[in-house]
Amino acid sequence: MLFRVITKEAFRKFVNTLLSEIEIIAPRKVATDYTGRSIYHYLPVDRFEDVALDYDTTRFSAKTYFTPFKENLASYSFQNGDWTQSIRYRGVTRLILGLHACDINALLKLDKVMARGPFPSPHYIARRKNTLIIGIDHDPCAGGFCRSLGTDTVTHGFDLFLTDLGDRYFVAIDSDRGFSMLQEVENTEVTEDDRVEYSAVRRRIAKGFTTHVETHNLPNILDIEFESPVWAKWGAKCLSCGTCAMVCPTCYCYGVSQEFSMDFASARKNKQLYSCNLYDFARVAGDHNFRARTSTRLKYRYYHQHRGFVETYNEPMCVGCNRCGNACLAGISPPEVIADLHMEEKA
Ligand code: SF4
Ligand code: SF4
Repeated sequence: MLFRVITKEAFRKFVNTLLSEIEIIAPRKVATDYTGRSIYHYLPVDRFEDVALDYDTTRFSAKTYFTPFKENLASYSFQNGDWTQSIRYRGVTRLILGLHACDINALLKLDKVMARGPFPSPHYIARRKNTLIIGIDHDPCAGGFCRSLGTDTVTHGFDLFLTDLGDRYFVAIDSDRGFSMLQEVENTEVTEDDRVEYSAVRRRIAKGFTTHVETHNLPNILDIEFESPVWAKWGAKCLSCGTCAMVCPTCYCYGVSQEFSMDFASARKNKQLYSCNLYDFARVAGDHNFRARTSTRLKYRYYHQHRGFVETYNEPMCVGCNRCGNACLAGISPPEVIADLHMEEKA
């Protein structure tokens, strides 16, 4: 890994230059909630002043720029007894600016499934290859437990990663593209003072976490507590709305449907994100539903995040962003559910 230092003024000019060349997606403040807390979304920006690099978290994750809620996989036309297929991949370069470490780690987990799994998605791979990423360090957000899952820092999966040192950024470079981008802007070698300040900032961030989730031995505990009343307790609250999976940066379950025009002259194959919490997620032909109970569906989402993914990839799928907990109208959040499981295990 290479490191450089760039002043904030030089970085502002750098982003403004990039804005004249490519689309930039960045955190933007869009509203304030009833408690006065700012609401941010990752959205296209036209000018540097619209970028809120000091945001805490976004309501939705950036996965929508890699695996959108709904996307067209292929279109078909039928003419003169023959048919043609059209598949379009996104080939236009864009930059996502200001991703936090947990969200970059989330993309690395999605890569394992969507780019290197048994059924890779060429649409995902095209978007991933054509997206530059500039990440940024931040103080822990309320309820975030990424440190418990080891995703509060990141060592790859970005082009540049910034740490705020007051009047300048300490910049980690993780790609040739990132190195080339920095050639366009004034930057300096890292000094001893920069190194000392960087370490102090990292220590401050690490100490700032107030939410801890005990993940030690969690896959085994989930198996031991498979029939635990914890699932009935939280399942009774769950509304089966699927919001948790929609806002999650790592939930990737989807369905594929085909639409035909009334005259059968054309058709489209669409992919749409889905949630294992929705009633019909495990419904099959004959109207048999393998997970008809809300508590079972809720349980399986936790099993996929903290046990199934571990079995396949040796790491949990959850990155601890707590977006699901923030978005859930029933007040269901991973720290509370997992704490309950541990208590059940100790009882
Ligand atoms: S856990 Fe919350 S967000 Fe998820 S489906 Fe249930 S009610 Fe909806
Ligand atoms: S399960 Fe919840 S806390 Fe974990 S990555 Fe998804 S949204 Fe974030």
